[in-house]
Amino acid sequence: MNLKELYQEIILEHGKNPRNLRKTDNFTRDAKGNNPLCGDNVHIYLKLNNNNKVEDISFEGSGCAITMASASIMTDLVRGKEEKEVKEIVTDFLNMIKEKDELSTQLLNEDEKTKLMCLSGVKQYPMRVKCATLSWHTLTSAMNNSQEIASTED
Ligand code: ZN
Repeated sequence: MNLKELYQEIILEHGKNPRNLRKTDNFTRDAKGNNPLCGDNVHIYLKLNNNNKVEDISFEGSGCAITMASASIMTDLVRGKEEKEVKEIVTDFLNMIKEKDELSTQLLNEDEKTKLMCLSGVKQYPMRVKCATLSWHTLTSAMNNSQEIASTED
């Protein structure tokens, strides 16, 4: 199995069995996002504890395999991180999807980085980039306590 096949395998697996697809009890922040071009919708629920750490994060929504896999992987990776660490990971991921070849954050281990790199295959497809980044933009809205619906079409 080559790297591309491994990446596809991981995306399909997360797309079929998304992690954290539920609503967090007593969430402290949330935000909705949508990608009208593909029909993807996500609602991110975030629970920060008193130390500004992510105690729980989950999502509800529906969409294509890329959107579901991206939200699934994202929610797994930011749990337990501090708010400022989450922001660093989001920025690093968005930079990687848009222009850079690799992730540079020290906050994730190699295994976690591999999961995010699975989504790098969308780079050549601008429509798919919107699917891959939807939940990340929505997480940013939730952290900023924004009441606006995050859209890929701003
Ligand atoms: Zn999509």
